[in-house]
Amino acid sequence: MQTWTATHQRMWIGGQWVDSVTGETVTVINPANGEVVGDVPKAGRKETAQAVDAAHQAFPAWSGLTAAERGAYLKKWAEEIRRNRESLARLLTMEQGKPLSEALEEVDAAADFSEWYGEEAKRVAGEALPGSKRDQRILVIRQPLGVAALITPWNYPATMVTRKMAAALAAGCTVVLKPASQTPLTAAFLMQLLEKTGLPTGVANLVTGNASEIGQALLDDPKVRKISFTGSTEVGKQLIEASARQVKRLSLELGGNAPLIVFSDADVDRAVAAAVGNKFENCGQMCNGINVIYVHEHLLDDFLQKLVERVGQLRVGFGWEPGTEIGPVIDESGIRKIDELVRDAVEKGAEILTGGRRLLEGPLARGTFYAPTVLAGVSFDMRITQEEIFGPVAPVVSFSDEEEIVKRVNDTPYGLAAYFFTKDIRRAFTVAEGLEFGMVAVNGTSLSVPQAPFGGIKESGQGREGGRYGMEEFLNIKYLSINL
Ligand code: NAP
Repeated sequence: MQTWTATHQRMWIGGQWVDSVTGETVTVINPANGEVVGDVPKAGRKETAQAVDAAHQAFPAWSGLTAAERGAYLKKWAEEIRRNRESLARLLTMEQGKPLSEALEEVDAAADFSEWYGEEAKRVAGEALPGSKRDQRILVIRQPLGVAALITPWNYPATMVTRKMAAALAAGCTVVLKPASQTPLTAAFLMQLLEKTGLPTGVANLVTGNASEIGQALLDDPKVRKISFTGSTEVGKQLIEASARQVKRLSLELGGNAPLIVFSDADVDRAVAAAVGNKFENCGQMCNGINVIYVHEHLLDDFLQKLVERVGQLRVGFGWEPGTEIGPVIDESGIRKIDELVRDAVEKGAEILTGGRRLLEGPLARGTFYAPTVLAGVSFDMRITQEEIFGPVAPVVSFSDEEEIVKRVNDTPYGLAAYFFTKDIRRAFTVAEGLEFGMVAVNGTSLSVPQAPFGGIKESGQGREGGRYGMEEFLNIKYLSINL
């Protein structure tokens, strides 16, 4: 039995915890049982303008600190996150649905991003170039670009906040955060922990509520110099168009269609373990999650048998119950999309080997649960190979020609992540170089770590998060020509 008292969280603007001017709120629902987890203010233009003003006022003093001073706040934030890991993870599970074990991993990763950028702050450096005249000296310096707006999605409510915010703060920017309306409580908790570090007033601000109004206010305000967005390709495209008016800097982490290719010489057991680990993490709701699995025809029977056996054992349930491996899909629209894609595949000839339906038995009927699913006999004319599934469904396509399969998986508007298994070193390099994706993992699926540049190409986005590359997104380059 899980007991939960619904909580009301406020926005953090200019160092004050405040409600919306209208007093309206957004209710946060637990996707596992439909119960209310809490609520947050439903803010719009006015509160966004206040948050931007606060960040703008705080910018000169914050950017004037030494890098080590800024870094110290981030390291303290990481400590606070670690100290509160259990309660943060529990809240994350209640509003997002993922198993507690995954929520704990996410909270740990969120702390790691903050700690890493706390260290990296000190390593922002410039360059001295040779002059073109004897008395000329050329310096290149990097400066924080000002107020940055950070817009985050619901699928990783903790890491998406710290991955953006720690990089921005380390660089010397001040920030306004707008988290997803399904998962704003984790963001509010993270801001409370940031406040505990003694962060100066207005350096970080939180607004919640009406996405299009808040987004428009951020786009219209010339004091906002940068928008860092993670979410759907559709909203990302709207931001590109709208940001053109002020030529605002943008970085975008958008949707994906990640292939996993299992070549004829692959270690099948490792490939199956990786396929299950990645595909079913967070109930398949991961932008860099495997969308479709391509298996060489010689390995197909062995691979499918092991995959189905493992997927059939996955424990679906409430995230807070020990042993749960798969939680709910985030909401009804997520379930509808998954269902449509599976039905389209079956109508065009795919076979359901396990799962293939919404789970409505017993207490699961109160939530949005979908059975972990394996589809065989999948082909490229099915929508499921072309669109992001964002659910616990593993479609398997058989192939025979190595060059052909690389061409086929590249033939998508997306380009975030790709995975493949092979023991051949030559193939490892040629295929990795030939895949048109921002990130490629060989013989494994681990990608999101603090030191590496996470991000995509084509319609999966622009810019990078993580590592020194993530910090560049919040810095301007200035060239100084000095004549003696
Ligand atoms: P979404 O609808 O685009 O929402 C993402 C964020 O944008 C939310 O905070 C949302 O606020 C806000 N938003 C919505 N409309 C807006 C507007 N007009 N102006 C400004 N902000 C606006 O996407 P989602 O459904 O939450 O997230 C799932 C998608 O994110 C998937 O496609 C996934 O692949 C992608 N994703 C990508 C990465 C990556 O790193 N590449 C990581 C995670 C997720 P509200 O919630 O209030 O509407």
